[in-house]
Amino acid sequence: MTVRYRGIVFFALLALLFALPALAQDQQLDLTKLPVGDGKLSQEPQVGYVWRCGDGGPSSNGGARVLGPWFSADGTTFDMTKKYIVDGDVMWPFEFAITTEGTERVFTGNSLPNHGTGVYPVAAGDDAAKVDPNPNTISAQDMSIKLPVMPTVAAEPSCMGGAIAIMLTGSVVFDGLDAEKRDAVAHETQDKCQGHPEGNGQYHYHNLTSCLEDKPDAGTHSVLMGYALDGFGLYGHFGEDGTALTNTDLDECHGHTHEIMWDGQMVEMYHYHATYEYPYTIGCFRGTAVRLGAGGGPGGQGGPGGQNPPPPNGQGEQNPPPPNGQGAPGKP
Ligand SMILES: [Zn+2]
Ligand SMILES: [Zn+2]
Repeated sequence: MTVRYRGIVFFALLALLFALPALAQDQQLDLTKLPVGDGKLSQEPQVGYVWRCGDGGPSSNGGARVLGPWFSADGTTFDMTKKYIVDGDVMWPFEFAITTEGTERVFTGNSLPNHGTGVYPVAAGDDAAKVDPNPNTISAQDMSIKLPVMPTVAAEPSCMGGAIAIMLTGSVVFDGLDAEKRDAVAHETQDKCQGHPEGNGQYHYHNLTSCLEDKPDAGTHSVLMGYALDGFGLYGHFGEDGTALTNTDLDECHGHTHEIMWDGQMVEMYHYHATYEYPYTIGCFRGTAVRLGAGGGPGGQGGPGGQNPPPPNGQGEQNPPPPNGQGAPGKP
């Protein structure tokens, strides 16, 4: 009896030994208790923050009217798995091409995704409408943009705002903030592919879309998911050993340097990663970024190569576009 008992204890301890690292990892990436990123807006490169150009503009009417029931009682964490998802599976006349012309990678398309989207404006009967009744309609946006095929790290990182990357779905990623400069993923509702439209109809994500397949093989680095507007790659959640990365694994701009597959070759190169935690994709630009206008094309304030802050309302989440199409009043 004693021997048998000892055996059970031994196996129980052994099981615990194997389970502990897994538990620690799960705790690190507990999708049910993700820290809310509100206030993590910086005026300089900072790990775990978004470096937004300028002051980000005046606060405006954000999308989410109330805290979703996925927030913890004290509002400091949220349960990603309990978020309301905007219903629907609407297909779009997707147009998207990536070509290379000499040293430039050329993106053309209409910014509509190659996957189904939720119904927008959000239907009154959708549970998502209780929290974030997004009144905007998805519309095509001219995309015509050139990024360097072999981007290089700039002397200094730079600030960002609005659209920050083009995903291989044909749609864009915005930074992690909503119109009120809060954590957009925590506060707002998105569809099954983590996208929704802003005031100009631009469909966009704030975190990695689950409608692109991340890391096809176990124990390997994520595959390329898109391109940041400085030309560097945006990869999925997983690092070289195949485990999900956190902010502490990445630099201030949310990237790192090691060998990656780039245009069919292994190259030692800087690249960004998505994380499950805020700021989700990119914190600042390591390279020299091209600005996408409010409509998704190279225009709007700044234009290609421009260093101006994004129009605070123009990229503005759920606000109607300002009458002059140039951004917020008082900021000509
Ligand atoms: Zn990597
Ligand atoms: Zn948004």
